[in-house]
Amino acid sequence: MKIHEYQGRDLLASFAIPVPAGQVIDSIETAATTYKQVTSEAGTDLAVVKAQVHAGGRGKAGFVKLVRSAKEAEDAARFMLSNKMVSAQTGPEGLEVTKLLIAAGVDIAHEYYLAITTDRATRRHTLIASAEGGVEIEKVAHENPDAIIKAKLHPLLGLQPFQAREVAFRLGFKGKQVSQAVKVMMNLARLFLAKDCSIAEINPLIVTPAGSGGAGVSPADNPDGQVLAIDAKFNFDDNAVFRHKDIQALFDPAEENPAELRAQKFGLSYIALDGNIGCLVNGAGLAMATMDTIKLHGGEPANFLDVGGSATEEAVTEAFKIILADHAVKGIMVNIFGGIMQCDIIAAGIINAAQGYQNPDGSKGFKVPLVVRLEGTNVDAGRQLLKDAAADLPTLQAATDLGDAAEKVVKAVG
Ligand code: GDP
Ligand code: MN
Repeated sequence: MKIHEYQGRDLLASFAIPVPAGQVIDSIETAATTYKQVTSEAGTDLAVVKAQVHAGGRGKAGFVKLVRSAKEAEDAARFMLSNKMVSAQTGPEGLEVTKLLIAAGVDIAHEYYLAITTDRATRRHTLIASAEGGVEIEKVAHENPDAIIKAKLHPLLGLQPFQAREVAFRLGFKGKQVSQAVKVMMNLARLFLAKDCSIAEINPLIVTPAGSGGAGVSPADNPDGQVLAIDAKFNFDDNAVFRHKDIQALFDPAEENPAELRAQKFGLSYIALDGNIGCLVNGAGLAMATMDTIKLHGGEPANFLDVGGSATEEAVTEAFKIILADHAVKGIMVNIFGGIMQCDIIAAGIINAAQGYQNPDGSKGFKVPLVVRLEGTNVDAGRQLLKDAAADLPTLQAATDLGDAAEKVVKAVG
């Protein structure tokens, strides 16, 4: 589960990681007054207006803007709330922006990258850091991997202070910056473990110029520069979110694919794809095999859909609705293995769901080609039911095996 930057900044602050103050707005009209409030409280005229969406690359897309007046803040807000954001992480259709963060701006002497995530290769939580942080971090990781520092967290002890100090020195922090950076790393590691994060990323972690003010610090109190987090990106382990009510409360359904959300409600795992053949399968492995076989026969799957072990009539009905809501779908392939659930019951469910399906024009019954492959317990009875239903469902074809089904559906969609 992902959260917004402004929520992530609050989370960092609650673990004593310093973050410049800010406020969230959702209208152009409130931008000017919010700018004035935020900047006067921080004692600066610099603020930053930032789109709040679950995708990165905002800076490069023009959706992070530094502003020095109420007028500039309003202009930035108008631009971001009236244009879709297209970045390397959004896809060409882009994302609508409905919320903005206006945060106190700070002067930056240097930008660092700091994150904790699970390294699958070593199966350990790992701290990742770089002195070349900021909007080019992907390029750095790709072209100059030596600039990326890693430290493994101990499974029981977490990040240890000596590791954080070593990383801070290798990043080039000087004087009082070192203890500030160590504190940030130790607290981020605590946060990561306490909240079951899958990623906790600060990019950039910055240091302000020595002797500069802002973010609630006077120049006199800042002889070595201040270490601050000015961006926050979190992802949480979906299987652990149930034990963090505070994190659950941060869920924003507006940022999720509506079809995928609807599927979740009915216990279906659905992921939308680009092709035109809808797939309805029980079991994730079988769903992967189904998609591979469709591709092998020259077709393109429109989705991944696992109805789970039960494949009840209700689940199948809902699955058909979700698949057909995608107007690119020109045919459906059903691939069900009847294990505990018997094939005749599944066949009856598919037939009822297909006959009862309500088309957008109000008529009933399936119009798109429907190829069904059943295998497992009571398969003969199941196939007989499909055969008997053929008169009522003219687009229904029964297949004998997976290859046959894929061939038939690819042919049916042309
Ligand atoms: P992202 O592009 O979505 O990761 O958005 P970020 O929050 O990381 O902002 C992108 C870039 O904007 C940063 O790397 C900084 O260079 C710049 N930036 C963001 N906030 C400030 C600020 O308060 N002051 C200054 N000088 N630059 C900022
Ligand atoms: Mn960033």
